[in-house]
Amino acid sequence: MLTIALSKGRIFEETLPLLAAAGIVPTEAPESSRKLIIGTNRDDVRLIIVRASDVPTYVQYGAADLGVAGRDVLIEHGGSGLYQPLDLQIARCRLMVAVQRGFDYEGAVKQGARLRIATKYTEQAREHFAAKGVHVDLIKLYGSMELAPLVGLADAIVDLVSTGSTLKANNLEAVEHIRDISSRLIVNQAALKLKEDRIQPLIDAFTSAVGQEA
Ligand code: ATP
Ligand code: MG
Repeated sequence: MLTIALSKGRIFEETLPLLAAAGIVPTEAPESSRKLIIGTNRDDVRLIIVRASDVPTYVQYGAADLGVAGRDVLIEHGGSGLYQPLDLQIARCRLMVAVQRGFDYEGAVKQGARLRIATKYTEQAREHFAAKGVHVDLIKLYGSMELAPLVGLADAIVDLVSTGSTLKANNLEAVEHIRDISSRLIVNQAALKLKEDRIQPLIDAFTSAVGQEA
């Protein structure tokens, strides 16, 4: 059995055409079925549905042979035990610093103020501000980061931005770009050796499907 870990939502939706290119079609949609294990047209391939940030963990420990995870999630996880053969160019967005409109971020940085930063991405935020020589207090959140500056929990947030409409709706603006994000195929290193006959063709099919999209 080959087990592929995916998260619901955009990653699942955007991985579907790549799976189809490899001849794999799920028998159900995770949103409607509520099942966490989803069969496919192939008896030897199943999908498991996990939290986006848990995908690397399932693959690292071999509970899934493969997975699709954002670069944001992979950097926070550290990537141990994972082979990352392919950037799938899906679920693209940017990791940004954002503040409430009107907050003088550049001024605060120049003055050497200590900034309170709310984020789910503490590793990347730590690294970003350390490289700039800005002192920060990191406040770990698990969602709705946009709220933090509005209620005085933080001066700034580090979060993913795609269209910017969520920032705009909450009177926030992006002030710094940290990195571009897209999702990658990840493979358990031991599984790649043991099941190479089935995993390599899948990597090859994904690779040519991504090439055609680009
Ligand atoms: P959870 O909802 O389980 O807490 P999450 O909100 O990070 O996790 P998703 O919103 O499904 O999960 O995002 C999954 C991945 O998609 C992220 O890790 C990131 O790589 C990418 N992503 C997240 N937000 C955006 C966005 N606004 N635009 C494009 N891609 C995004
Ligand atoms: Mg989400």
